[in-house]
Amino acid sequence: MPYQSGSRLPGERASRIGHLEVVKSDLVKSIIQSFDSPEPPLVESKTEWKVQSFSGNSLPIIFGIDGSMQVNQYEKPPQKAIAFVKTALLRLDQYSISQIDREYPNPFALRDMLSDSALYHATVFPLRHTPIPGMNTYDAIRQIIFESIKEKGGSLDTEVMETLKWLAYEKWAENDKSLQPFECPHCEEVVASLNYNEEKGTCSGCGGSLFLTDMLGFHQEMAPDSAPDTVATAYMNIHETLLLFTAVRYYWETNKKILSNCLFVKDGPLMLRAQYSKLVDPIRRFLFFAQKNNFPVHIIGQEKTGRFMDHLQLIKKDAQERSIFMPDNKYIKEIIKSRPNRGGPYGEKTNYGNKIFVKLDNYHSMVLNIPHYSEEPSYMDTLDADRIFATIPKILSNRYEGALLPIELAHGVASLSTYPSAKILKIFSESKEPPII
Ligand SMILES: [Zn+2]
Repeated sequence: MPYQSGSRLPGERASRIGHLEVVKSDLVKSIIQSFDSPEPPLVESKTEWKVQSFSGNSLPIIFGIDGSMQVNQYEKPPQKAIAFVKTALLRLDQYSISQIDREYPNPFALRDMLSDSALYHATVFPLRHTPIPGMNTYDAIRQIIFESIKEKGGSLDTEVMETLKWLAYEKWAENDKSLQPFECPHCEEVVASLNYNEEKGTCSGCGGSLFLTDMLGFHQEMAPDSAPDTVATAYMNIHETLLLFTAVRYYWETNKKILSNCLFVKDGPLMLRAQYSKLVDPIRRFLFFAQKNNFPVHIIGQEKTGRFMDHLQLIKKDAQERSIFMPDNKYIKEIIKSRPNRGGPYGEKTNYGNKIFVKLDNYHSMVLNIPHYSEEPSYMDTLDADRIFATIPKILSNRYEGALLPIELAHGVASLSTYPSAKILKIFSESKEPPII
């Protein structure tokens, strides 16, 4: 281990590759010097930060959405494994947020607030070597996914299933269409489908039984008697998305004016990967439809780890306070993802939000996703984003850099196993129509 730095002298640095005999060329030497240097690389490409107002007409009702997933596995063979998945949705308003101490929140005050305004979901998946009588793991997990999303009689009482149907059949458009054919979990042919509004059916190719949740494609990454951890992670992401849209759907059907005064704050990118992306197009179409009807829906996703977050660390020091930067497709592929700018636009099939770097001040900067309404993102496409930016300073937490209170609090709910949860319709119906500002 090298000597650590003292108060007068810099610390010794260990060269990672200094002991290697390499070609004695100046180019090779400069590569080694550059690699050994602790300085972050210069980002030479133009980062077009744009000054943004973070004040104005903010959104008075805030929802936080988060989830957690944990795999419990025996260390000794046969290494039985089960996964616990929890998700939570939390309703806040600016008054209740203003009552919270941003640095030292009182846990009892938080508990009282959460008991009235949090919805909570939990389920378990038998991933490996955890047999269920009369069923293989593949079919057991398919059925658990269906029953968990339906959750009849629980605090969410079938509302999340209604939301899946609302998205899958695009029920806001009232066009009565059946599902696009998807890969059957039995015969593996892309012939499975369900008639409008159905939750169950049979495959026209093989007669095997189908669940609506099979359209999402969880079975495509499972073997007959085992499932990878990623099935549970994918379920968590899907369930978070469905929770968010359960609140959206509720207000869309009951009071669109309230909907357009809400901010939905989700942990993680606004993205559904690989086969799970089947919900992305319906989500985009709904957001566009709502926008066109003058009821914009305000959603943000916050990325706390990953390539975009790493990149923010490199570029934020050069940005002015109170500014934003929206990288375009070329910048994302070449500079952030380090790959050639070929093929379709980044996230074309999987993302329903643009990436936006935000710097409020030297303490608070973050990577946000905001839904966009066209293929080539630009500032103009994130319509009504000004109201989102006006709300951000009001929901900051001072406990972590760039942290947002709704996510922090929703995470608190999703990490607790025995939290009492309110009935779904109650928490929405308590949202009074906000005053016209
Ligand atoms: Zn089939």
